Amino acid sequence: MRTPILLLLAALRLSAAADFSARFEEIRKTASPSELYSVLFALPNGGDLHHHSGLSAYASVWYRIATSAKTLARNSFYTMTQSGNCPNTADSLPRFYTIQRSRYEALDPCQKALYRSLASLSPELRDAWTSSLILDKPGEARDEFFERIVPRFGDLTHDPWLYADVIVENMRLFGAEGVRYIEAQIEINGFIDATGKAISAEDAHCIIAGRLNQPDGLATGVTMRFQGVIIRSTPDAPQRLEAMYAWVAAHRDRWVGINMAGREDNDKGYALRFLETYRKMRRTYSNIPLSIHAGEKDSPGHEVRDTLLLGATRIGHGVNLITDPDTMLLMRNGNCLVEINLVSNRVLDYVPDTATHPFPEYLRFGIPVCLNTDDRGSWDSNMTDEYYTAVTNFHLTWKEIVELGRNSLTHSFAEAPLKAKMLHDYEAALAAFETKLSGPDWRATMRPVKPLVSGYATRTWGFHD
Ligand SMILES: [Zn+2]
Repeated sequence: MRTPILLLLAALRLSAAADFSARFEEIRKTASPSELYSVLFALPNGGDLHHHSGLSAYASVWYRIATSAKTLARNSFYTMTQSGNCPNTADSLPRFYTIQRSRYEALDPCQKALYRSLASLSPELRDAWTSSLILDKPGEARDEFFERIVPRFGDLTHDPWLYADVIVENMRLFGAEGVRYIEAQIEINGFIDATGKAISAEDAHCIIAGRLNQPDGLATGVTMRFQGVIIRSTPDAPQRLEAMYAWVAAHRDRWVGINMAGREDNDKGYALRFLETYRKMRRTYSNIPLSIHAGEKDSPGHEVRDTLLLGATRIGHGVNLITDPDTMLLMRNGNCLVEINLVSNRVLDYVPDTATHPFPEYLRFGIPVCLNTDDRGSWDSNMTDEYYTAVTNFHLTWKEIVELGRNSLTHSFAEAPLKAKMLHDYEAALAAFETKLSGPDWRATMRPVKPLVSGYATRTWGFHD
């Protein structure tokens, strides 16, 4: 529920927005590409609602923190730089598969020779290691991502102290872009300590949540909430889903919802496999919101409709919703939001030509949408890239840009007081942004802004820091 003061602020902003629309149109039409990128970098943002925690951080950040003195005082990592024909070697491991010291020390001499210490890689190998975690080469798309990049992380994403440090740095980078809220999908099971011993979900949660509450975490200006995520294609996914309901219900201060990810084209990944489990869970648990990947496909289908039937109020991707007219009409002017990921859909080849993406149709047809970064570490991209892609392909108006930001907060699963505060702060930041750029010379105002240019932006549009 919106408070009267929020309504007043929104009403005041409505009239200001009308004034600023003409200025934004002028900026959009006359700015050089790099000027427009700077404006969109400086734009106040709402939330990143579709965000996979570990894969959202840049490979360079993982490398820097995994090889920092702080981490090395506690743990160290080894990466497979060559393949070999050792006995007991799993051939399917990709080059640059990374393990922690306890596993390295358990290898036989032949296997050990395939690995090198992450901290002592040559500059060339370090660059190759970083590149191996990014879709930065022609021809690299979803197979490279799912079959090689994701497995390469190995033990890196199983060390909760390292993971937490990486999250804080990632929050700082999102904060620099004006993002104020992240709803991160996190796998809380499977963490281990430096000796390889399992860490309970409860302990891992304490380590990560505690780290986010340290001064540098709070100073990022970004609030993070977690979603439990189930990989839908695993044989025991329904049982995991039941366990996740219990987990989220017991940790509602930080955990705000449940997601399902993974390929839908797998014979176990289809939505309706889970219908009875979700219905069973709703007989026990109240108010556990669902955001579920659906329709992340380049073929027609009813995945979004089936996923709404599971109880989802947010749909991740929804690319093939455009092929399902009845569900389009059902969602028009409704309360269910589609989390759009333009860069992800392009680099994974679901929508290789962004100009044909259904996003503008959803937006202008009246289906709530917002922009998100998905696994942006693997795309080497950022939130500014999402807005730049949207504005340059679809000529977004100022009103539409504000609508996207507002949607990302109103459709977040954040608790009501936090949501109200974030909306209030967002409206205030927008008003200040409009005032700043409404002066006689918006170019002079923007000149001191130095955007954090992503690797994706450099490769795609030729921008540089
Ligand atoms: Zn996703």
